[in-house]
Amino acid sequence: MKRLIFIKQIKNNHLPKSLKIQNRSRNDFQCRNYLKFFLFSILFIGIFIQENPCLAQSLKNKNLIVTLLSAGQGDAIVIQTPKGKTYLIDTGPNETLFGGSFDAGKEAIVPFLKFNKIAFLDGILVTHPHLDHYGGTFTVLENFKVNQFLDSGIQTRAPPYLKLLLELEKKGVGYRIVKAKDKINWERALKLEILAPTKELYPNIEEKNNYNNCSIVLKLTYKSVSFLFTGDIEKEAEEVLAKKLKRKLRSKILKVAHHGSKTSSTLVFLMRVQPEVALISCGVKNPFGHPHALILNRFNDLGVKVYRTDQDGTIQIITDGKKYKIKTSKGN
Ligand SMILES: [Zn+2]
Repeated sequence: MKRLIFIKQIKNNHLPKSLKIQNRSRNDFQCRNYLKFFLFSILFIGIFIQENPCLAQSLKNKNLIVTLLSAGQGDAIVIQTPKGKTYLIDTGPNETLFGGSFDAGKEAIVPFLKFNKIAFLDGILVTHPHLDHYGGTFTVLENFKVNQFLDSGIQTRAPPYLKLLLELEKKGVGYRIVKAKDKINWERALKLEILAPTKELYPNIEEKNNYNNCSIVLKLTYKSVSFLFTGDIEKEAEEVLAKKLKRKLRSKILKVAHHGSKTSSTLVFLMRVQPEVALISCGVKNPFGHPHALILNRFNDLGVKVYRTDQDGTIQIITDGKKYKIKTSKGN
């Protein structure tokens, strides 16, 4: 009732005395119009939220949701921010480019996004130009508008990656190269730091042709909960980062490097990260034997709880920045 009276007052220019404008210069009229618009907006939003509980709920949803999709032998991670933005870190494999049948974009990413009524992607970050980390991007681009694509700028002559870069240009997707020490602004409440590749790791590309060790490593922090995404870095990169970054690596949730291969997850690195939870992306009965028993034992010895997509299916971490809970599609 009070609200209606207030609207009537504004309509009749009967503003409360304290808000009344005495001197009617042109600027004052403008001021008063802005004020009316502001007050109307507040009232409208208030009434609209009351009548639309779904919207009210989504505005109140202050959670960060990180989902490790069950996307075969590769990484595909969806980040849903507290303010409703959506990003992908890697997009899984795509065997259809070489006559196979599995495409992580078609089988995992697109269905997940559609199920969650997500119509637009704010960004896709590809950690390194290996097909099990970017293959699904083609199908994603066919189905969604994407604002920005981020990678490390590593030059690769792999035809599918060059095709992808052309596709991004054709679709008008923004392109950004990121390197260590860059900070990305996804939204105010989130801190996103690029920790690698550092310049010490670049010779790995030129001399050893090892893209794994030049993966983008990024740390995502929401209040007191941090996630560390490691792409496919191996021992060499882990040692450089452990020595250089020390406590900065500390994160509650670790996306395990290189699908749990024994070439990664060195003790020196894990001692710096000190994760509570380790997430492994790998295909069911994959031919590489990922994750390696040695690595699983290492996590077990350190008291770290392991989740893996080949056994748990899709893994989702939901956090309000203080606590987190983990759900899996297989309910393990
Ligand atoms: Zn990989």
